[in-house]
Amino acid sequence: KVPYKNITVAGSGVLGNQIAVQCAFHGFNVTIYDINNDAIAKAKTRFTDLANQHQHDLGETDAQVAAASNNLAYTTDLNEALKDADLLIEAVPESLDIKKDFYSKASAAAPAKTVFASNSSTLLPSVLSTFTNRPEKFLMLHFANHIHIRNTVELMAAPSCDPQVYADVIEFAKAIAMLPIAVKKEQSGYVLDSLLIPLLVAGLKLWANGVANAATIDKTWMIATGSPFGPMAILDKNGMTTNYNIFNELAKTDPSLQQPAEKLKAELVDTNKLGEATGEGFYQY
Ligand code: NAD
Repeated sequence: KVPYKNITVAGSGVLGNQIAVQCAFHGFNVTIYDINNDAIAKAKTRFTDLANQHQHDLGETDAQVAAASNNLAYTTDLNEALKDADLLIEAVPESLDIKKDFYSKASAAAPAKTVFASNSSTLLPSVLSTFTNRPEKFLMLHFANHIHIRNTVELMAAPSCDPQVYADVIEFAKAIAMLPIAVKKEQSGYVLDSLLIPLLVAGLKLWANGVANAATIDKTWMIATGSPFGPMAILDKNGMTTNYNIFNELAKTDPSLQQPAEKLKAELVDTNKLGEATGEGFYQY
């Protein structure tokens, strides 16, 4: 049902590694491509951490870990990485220039059969597909961090994408134990961030403007809606540097966010209260 066997993941950072390991655990031949040996060395180390998380959270056996490890290959040579790829999943840094350069090189290196999928959080398929020589085989495949447990993946395409390609990638998503979310129109932020970012902005403003403290904001949301977390706890999970980058970007077009973003920087980022990862953010851990 899934017409793919060889998967190439480009960029072995936070998300690329998780995607590669998820595919390897589900029996695909996976090649991880990154730009230098340091990045590849980190990816190899990261496999052990991720395999431990899979075992802890999903009960995968030592034999399954060994099989997944066998399914993974690593290279810094793009031609080698793509020479027999059925599907390329791109998770290189979120920069238009880097993505443009990457897609131009990948277009030259990949055979005609290779489908290109991008994990970009903010760039749109109608833009990225124009950097490739195959807009009919290009779509977004947007995973959420901690993909083995937060297993939604959002599919979004420009009108140029072949509907059969979209359908095949849905089947692929299911085959790696993801829940495919079909986003029917091009939408900045997909479904998830279209919902989540306004909630986080609202929480940040209530806190920064002294309307309520973090615990009160979260308690109100949690008790009244039955949610397990409120926005301030989610900010702690995301990490304060990422939060600040998002809010600072939004403040360029929304001046009412400038002071809240600066307060977040001064009181949390600059004091190393980066959230769960550093043991303190809006809460202590
Ligand atoms: P990251 O910075 O952790 O990793 C990027 C990796 O790409 C690094 O290993 C780097 O060496 C490598 N790289 C740099 N230039 C490259 C090139 N030209 N070719 C190949 N590899 C290159 O980034 P990340 O957080 O994994 O994000 C990657 C993509 O995933 C972005 O588009 C981002 O929007 C998206 N994304 C991130 C998250 C998240 O929570 N971090 C969630 C969903 C989507």
